[in-house]
Amino acid sequence: MTYVSALHFHEARKEVIERVRSAGLTPPVEEVSLAEAFGRVLAADARSDRDYPPVARSVRDGFALRAQDLPGELEVIGEVRAGEASGLAVGQGEAIEIMTGAPVPAGADAIVMVEHVSREGARIRTQRTQKPGDFINPRGAEAKTGEVVVARGSRLGFPQVAMLATIGCTHVQVYRKPDVAILATGDEIVQVSDTPKEFQIRNSNAWSLACQVRRAGGCPRILPVARDQYPHTLELVEQGLASDLLLLSGGVSAGKYDIVEKVLADLDAEFFFTRVLIQPGQPLVFGRRQARFFFGLPGNPASTMVTFELFARAALDLLGGCADAPIPLAWARLTREFRHKTGLTRFLPARLDADGLSVTPVRWQGSGDVPALARANAFLVAAADREFWQAGEMIPVLLQ
Ligand code: AMP
Ligand code: MG
Repeated sequence: MTYVSALHFHEARKEVIERVRSAGLTPPVEEVSLAEAFGRVLAADARSDRDYPPVARSVRDGFALRAQDLPGELEVIGEVRAGEASGLAVGQGEAIEIMTGAPVPAGADAIVMVEHVSREGARIRTQRTQKPGDFINPRGAEAKTGEVVVARGSRLGFPQVAMLATIGCTHVQVYRKPDVAILATGDEIVQVSDTPKEFQIRNSNAWSLACQVRRAGGCPRILPVARDQYPHTLELVEQGLASDLLLLSGGVSAGKYDIVEKVLADLDAEFFFTRVLIQPGQPLVFGRRQARFFFGLPGNPASTMVTFELFARAALDLLGGCADAPIPLAWARLTREFRHKTGLTRFLPARLDADGLSVTPVRWQGSGDVPALARANAFLVAAADREFWQAGEMIPVLLQ
């Protein structure tokens, strides 16, 4: 088997991103309605159908006038509301009452806010001065006709869907969702519907992975659990390699029955790394067999979850046609001191407060502690080269 040395967390992520990018596997394209576009990846640049705003617009309620006439007294010659265009033009000493969003009438070059004038009948008076352009959003200031407003490879969140709606896209070209095979391994693993014996556990990893895959824009396909026997694992791995991505859980540690790597090696797979200096998740396998990438994720539930988020999610983003694969990290303030052993980057279950600014580690018994994971809503990220953080210090947090 190819020997691959252990990588640091950032090196391993870089390796995943570079390997998947350089494979240049562009997914097929399909068309969906705007109602189905959320979360999909745009397959063709969306361009602006006209200038935005299409005409100069007021960004305040007030009076459209000539800046050079201020300060002073002006005559109000009319009104313009959002949703209409004024046929009037503003001349010297004149103003037109204007509402936010309404087109700026001809002749006017500034808006004075309604709060800054006193009005008597058809006359307004103000001590204010304004510069030409004040409170006016000029034509084309936001986007010009033909400009790319949502780029190919963007994952469509709600602002991007709003942009597509703005330019009149009722249907959009998106990349087909990658098909992701999920293969849990282990003689101790039983179905969720089974009653496990004392020495058995239910297959939770396939379920957490299916959620993670779905959230990352893939279509999960859960395969039957592979027994820790060579022929059964081989058969299922071959089936899994028919998908765009294969995620294995378990069987990648150094145990006597950890046969996943052997099976993959016998299928002529190429291994890019087999160990990453993180916890949970040290024995992590990433490789490719022909045009298919695979991850051998360690079986402990926390390891499976964390390694998916850190590595497989990036691969899935790119396989799904995304131009980039950002990692959802934020900073938060520790509510109490925290200590760990240096050498590995640790991702530990934690709770972010409702304000999103402070974080508390969740007590846990190790990578198999699913109840602790279920109480957490984030993972705090303890750098490999630092041992101690005081209460009140900032620490990175991997958002869930
Ligand atoms: P392994 O990586 O195969 O050595 O598995 C490590 C531990 O993870 C096992 O002892 C199980 O307790 C747990 N485990 C493995 N696979 C699963 C799974 N599919 N669902 C839940 N826990 C699992
Ligand atoms: Mg196992």
